[in-house]
Amino acid sequence: MDSAILDKPQIQKNTPKSTQPFDVCIIGGGLTGASLAAYLGNAGKKVAVVEKDFSYQDRIVGELLQPGGVKKLTELGLADCLEGIDSAPVSGYAIFKNGKQIHIPYPDENTQGRGFHNGRFVQNLRKKITNHPNITLMEGTAVNLLRNDAGKITGVAYTDKQHDDILEIQGAITVVSDGFFSIFRKELSKNQAKVSGFFLGLVLKDCPLPYAGHGHVFITDHSPFLAYPISPTEIRMLIDFPGTMPPKKSPELKKELKVRILPFLPQSLHSAFIAAVEAGDFKVMPNHYMPGKPVPEEGAVLLGDALNMRHPLTGGGMTACFTDVLSLGKLLAECTDLSDSRKVNSLIKTFYFQKRKENSTINILADALYRVFRHKPLADACFDYLAQGGKFAQEPVSILSGISRDKNLLIKHFFAVAKFGARNLIKTQGGIGKAYTLIRYAFQIVHPLILNEKPTFSERIFLQTGAWIFPPFSKS
Ligand SMILES: Cc1cc2nc3c(=O)[nH]c(=O)nc-3n(C[C@H](O)[C@H](O)[C@H](O)COP(=O)(O)OP(=O)(O)OC[C@H]3O[C@@H](n4cnc5c(N)ncnc54)[C@H](O)[C@@H]3O)c2cc1C
Repeated sequence: MDSAILDKPQIQKNTPKSTQPFDVCIIGGGLTGASLAAYLGNAGKKVAVVEKDFSYQDRIVGELLQPGGVKKLTELGLADCLEGIDSAPVSGYAIFKNGKQIHIPYPDENTQGRGFHNGRFVQNLRKKITNHPNITLMEGTAVNLLRNDAGKITGVAYTDKQHDDILEIQGAITVVSDGFFSIFRKELSKNQAKVSGFFLGLVLKDCPLPYAGHGHVFITDHSPFLAYPISPTEIRMLIDFPGTMPPKKSPELKKELKVRILPFLPQSLHSAFIAAVEAGDFKVMPNHYMPGKPVPEEGAVLLGDALNMRHPLTGGGMTACFTDVLSLGKLLAECTDLSDSRKVNSLIKTFYFQKRKENSTINILADALYRVFRHKPLADACFDYLAQGGKFAQEPVSILSGISRDKNLLIKHFFAVAKFGARNLIKTQGGIGKAYTLIRYAFQIVHPLILNEKPTFSERIFLQTGAWIFPPFSKS
């Protein structure tokens, strides 16, 4: 691996208070902000990126990029960021339950996913925006969105990291991509993030996965856990801790992991798992569910985790982010006059509509599957349904991989799983009461998720007529 990957991009310091307005100001130079900046800079737009800290970060998020995400990254012209970081190809999934296992390769053998260290990948993306003639980088913490007298957002104020000064930059449009703890989300949306639990992450070293180059899902009676390669010699394990309180590092936690997880692990992972637990180098992250409910604001747009989050069980987050980056990037790149507020307003609304259409399958599947795997009768049904193979496995995996975005196909398979489970319950336990309860519970899982992805009335009218009726652009 190229050790320069870990370097910090060279940052432009001391931006003067009155710079020329940029075409686009981006808050947050994480994977969403950096990839949008690269795409727009390459398209000739003048871009500024304000990032809190450009240093390498060691995180347990965003480490498996599904094939659908690789495809979007390629369309953004950034696929080479997956190289030189010791990444590992991923060619499908293996699912384990009660000693049984299913192997489901991705439907198209030419489309692979990738596992990697998130920080290495993000630094590669940041390299793309470093020393770029159209891109200016500022290291500092964004503190305020700037507004003109009419309430339109015109840029951002930030605290410069080196000198602690408050500086301002102006842009025709400001993109807010400051991640899951976004401080600007409340100004641009009605979003409410709910914590659905926590993932505890640890790394297993130098041990073979039962299916090399595959994501592994372990369904247990307690809750699911994952294992997938993040380099040729390292496996990331993410272990679910449901509830609202994170697990605390303690000797009891080590004991719990050995009792709860070890019996479900294949022998080949035992000693590496015990070594990782004993070393105690755990990281814990909250898992959020937050459907995107943007409130269109003049001059600004929300993007990435700041706009929309789903459970990380299916590894869909980065694919959703790159889908949005490409969709917004194309609209901004094609706009010849970003100073025309009417055009910019219209493209913000078009983006929000497209976003819902393109990412609904990723969003619905992630939280639906998490809840299915936490409900024993549905988890049994899902496992047995996928085990039939053929289209019963291939079509659901094409949705999980982000290749298919067909919402009807997802809903068809979701209810087919519930019906399959109900039929099995009738066969094995007689009586239709339990079968009915199962179907009803499946409906209760998926119905609110589907509703949250439906375009709003005003979005549909806008797409048909070009008129935005409700709510109007807010002027706060
Ligand atoms: C436990 C877990 C595991 C996950 N695993 C996967 C996976 O395997 N595959 C997958 O596809 N997705 C996964 N995800 C989701 C994925 O990590 C996110 O969707 C993705 O990282 C979001 O990128 P982002 O750029 O929007 O936000 P971030 O990556 O959080 O970037 C935000 C950036 O903004 C900067 N910033 C924040 N505030 C400010 C400020 N005020 N001023 C300036 N800069 C600021 C931050 O420093 C950061 O660089 C996972 C999520 C979790 C929680």
